[in-house]
Amino acid sequence: MSIYLDYNASTPIDPRVLSVMVDVYQNHFGNADSRTHEFGESARSMTETARGQVAELLGVNKDEVFFTSGATESNNIAILGLRAFGEAKNKKHIITSSIEHKAILGAAKALSENGFEVEYVDPDESGRVNPEKLTSMIRPDTLLVSLMHVNNETGIIQPVKEIGDYLRETETLFHIDATQSCGKLIDEVRSLHYDLMSISAHKMHGPQGIGALIMRKKRYRLPPVKPIMYGGGQEHGIRPGTLPTALIAGFGETCAIAEKEAAQDNAMCCKIKESLLDLLEKSGVEYVINGDQKHCVPTTLNVSFLGVSSEALMLATKQYCGVSNGSACTSSSYSHSHVLSAMNLSDEYIESAIRISWGKESSLKEVVDKFAKMIQVVHEII
Ligand code: PMP
Repeated sequence: MSIYLDYNASTPIDPRVLSVMVDVYQNHFGNADSRTHEFGESARSMTETARGQVAELLGVNKDEVFFTSGATESNNIAILGLRAFGEAKNKKHIITSSIEHKAILGAAKALSENGFEVEYVDPDESGRVNPEKLTSMIRPDTLLVSLMHVNNETGIIQPVKEIGDYLRETETLFHIDATQSCGKLIDEVRSLHYDLMSISAHKMHGPQGIGALIMRKKRYRLPPVKPIMYGGGQEHGIRPGTLPTALIAGFGETCAIAEKEAAQDNAMCCKIKESLLDLLEKSGVEYVINGDQKHCVPTTLNVSFLGVSSEALMLATKQYCGVSNGSACTSSSYSHSHVLSAMNLSDEYIESAIRISWGKESSLKEVVDKFAKMIQVVHEII
């Protein structure tokens, strides 16, 4: 049986989350905005409990949590929603990194086609953006800096703490795409200074199709984000549309579980990583680990087996494990990873790079067994 090692693409749903959702579908099916009957009230009470659970995990206020369909939508609202403010204030300079998710890169490109100037900072070979390099690019007309917390391909933690601390004293807004860190790096996320943050439930053992945009208030005022869609005014107009009560309740439960259990899950994930690194070291194959492991999360390993095409290796090891060689959003057809390219890795490294990612359901023994099988296949191919 093949085991799942592509947690950065999506995680299995926690059964406790699923049972909350089933209860909502069966018993709280009203529209949370129906004010004329108790069916609406009971749905609303579920969504507000969940909003509190999300807020609690992140250490923010309930009225700073805006539910969306996921991080793609949150990222789009955060970037495109600032267009009118940028135009009105003549602040049309945006800084982001070249290793962002396509939802950021695409939205930034759309603004650059509409009179904004977007600058992209590259990471160095470590996979990390240099914070001084980024802050030196800030100008009086810089509207926004957008930087991810953890890169989805390499697992490298970006210097959002340093950049947030710097920007706190300025008029430039700061958006963090925390899709890969939320529910994992709990204390780190809570300690960050930012105006906008994107998160998604399905990367943290919750359901697909629900996420949030966190908008931090400054002097009692929300960031100047305008909606990018129009409808019934839900989520204060920021993200209109009937609230998906079951998804939201599931997301809330996901956050409550993460808050209680992430530390212990992380410890288990660290053991898996140590074992994989140990196996690699003893394997006798030629490999390179992509990204500086001093700054990497314990749930991701991006490794190039030199001389072995990742496409061929994934095919040959499909019966053992499901891994990937890039972001799921762009991996239906193979194209060079924009993240590894930005790190200035050679074509040979990029073409042989595999991303392995795991989580709390992964069994140490099973992961190690299957990874050993993968290494055996590498030996056979070479
Ligand atoms: N940002 C990052 C860093 C991601 O890893 C992903 C998912 N691959 C997204 C955004 C998009 O998230 P969603 O699937 O919730 O739209």
